[in-house]
Amino acid sequence: MKEIILSFSFVFLAIGIKAQHVHTEKCGTIADQQTIARLEANKKYLANNSLRGGDRYIPIKFHRVGDNAGEQKIKVSEVLTNLCKISNDFEKHGLVPYINNLFNEISNDALYLNAWTSVNGLINNKDDNSVNVFICQNASPANSSADAGTVLGYYQPSGDYLVVRKQEVRDSSGTLTHELGHLFSLQHPFLGWEDHDGNGWTYSTAIHGNPLTVTTIGGSLIELVDRSNCDFTADRICDTPPDYNFRDSDPNDNLVNGCRLTAEIYDYNNELIETQEENHMTYYSNCEKGFFTEGQEEVMKADFDSAARANIRSGYIPNLTEVTEVPNVIFPQQGEEAQFFNSVQFEWEPVANADYYLIEISGNGYNESIITENTNYLFTDLEPNNTYFWIIQGFNETSGCVKSGNMIFSTGDETTDVKELSNIAEIYFSPNPLNQGDIGSLKLVSQKSFDANIKIVDLQGKEVLNLGTQNIAKDETLFNIETSNLISGIYLLQIESEEGIFNQKVIIK
Ligand SMILES: [Zn+2]
Repeated sequence: MKEIILSFSFVFLAIGIKAQHVHTEKCGTIADQQTIARLEANKKYLANNSLRGGDRYIPIKFHRVGDNAGEQKIKVSEVLTNLCKISNDFEKHGLVPYINNLFNEISNDALYLNAWTSVNGLINNKDDNSVNVFICQNASPANSSADAGTVLGYYQPSGDYLVVRKQEVRDSSGTLTHELGHLFSLQHPFLGWEDHDGNGWTYSTAIHGNPLTVTTIGGSLIELVDRSNCDFTADRICDTPPDYNFRDSDPNDNLVNGCRLTAEIYDYNNELIETQEENHMTYYSNCEKGFFTEGQEEVMKADFDSAARANIRSGYIPNLTEVTEVPNVIFPQQGEEAQFFNSVQFEWEPVANADYYLIEISGNGYNESIITENTNYLFTDLEPNNTYFWIIQGFNETSGCVKSGNMIFSTGDETTDVKELSNIAEIYFSPNPLNQGDIGSLKLVSQKSFDANIKIVDLQGKEVLNLGTQNIAKDETLFNIETSNLISGIYLLQIESEEGIFNQKVIIK
């Protein structure tokens, strides 16, 4: 009995895989008149001008779109991993993507679930001086159930932005590279063959013949191998050969195996078609490498240099150094338990070339991505007796390719002293005790803004450190307390203000 059930489920699985090949994942970019006109303008520019040398820096604003509660967003570490991928894809062509002023955060159900119908919502969130990439739950046309879950991303020409499905922003996915190609006016090499016979298939030997018996598709001329019409057919770029979107061809023909066109298909002149399976703008899946042709590279550069793209040419040169190391963690070490739970100071050593550090921490419903320029961060909202998983990585505008493995730590059930300052501010100091030379972190969470004198005195009342009068902002204010000049011993941290006085014992080991 058991064997029978197993073989039935195997058959079911095999059918499922085959069905996926027919209605397979695709790109939602539509080549309209506006995008073709733009491509033609770029080609005209190239015919009359030579491109300048040197790298071109592409500012990208990644929008992390979540639901109304701000949940479900793509992880920052995944965006950084995909930045690695697109950097590798573009840098060799003299186009260098970089993160422009970190990330934009959006909490909006409509944009998260239904970006296709939320054009104005997306446009209102655009950064005017960046290429805008919205990362949402899906990138499907909302009114097309046939396409639900199969569209990976699209370029929206009138709004000039990209929408990419959350699960496509990851290490090996070429979706963002492909869609950026569209943004810089590239078309599919198989333009005209997207979904031709209404069955979800494109080329079919039964319908179109092998060699081809037709010269037009959907009223447009079909590209020939001999390049005689390459300038005005399909993607209109001559070093990308004819491709009749064979990946999505009639499954009865069985023309494609993974990343390879395995069948011999001949064009109308009876010339053998050899497609560029690994070109970023084709649809072949499971390809190891990707490239743009020289013709595609030139069109993208011409587009970058065009008047329409003046907004992203600031002349700014981003940090081009590479972050190659993972920060060495000081606290908490792998598996370590923090004594307290309401005041846990994470700390790590700096790494070369990193301008920012990312901590991602999760556990028991808690998910937080913290970006800081410092080498420590004080968490005050963790739960007692809980286990957390976390990663850390250093990054800069162009480099964020290495991150730590998943680490684990747990919280204890003790609270640090939280004392009221006339009931308007909560005060946290950590670590405590601290080692001589450690930087102590003082955090005040206040209901209102006020001025206070902050100092440390020894037990004889002698002042050993004075930060002077400081403004305590409404909400959160952080101070780093330098202790390298203090010898081991017991001290008092004092905060004096018109709102009240606060004292806390500080121990330096
Ligand atoms: Zn596409």
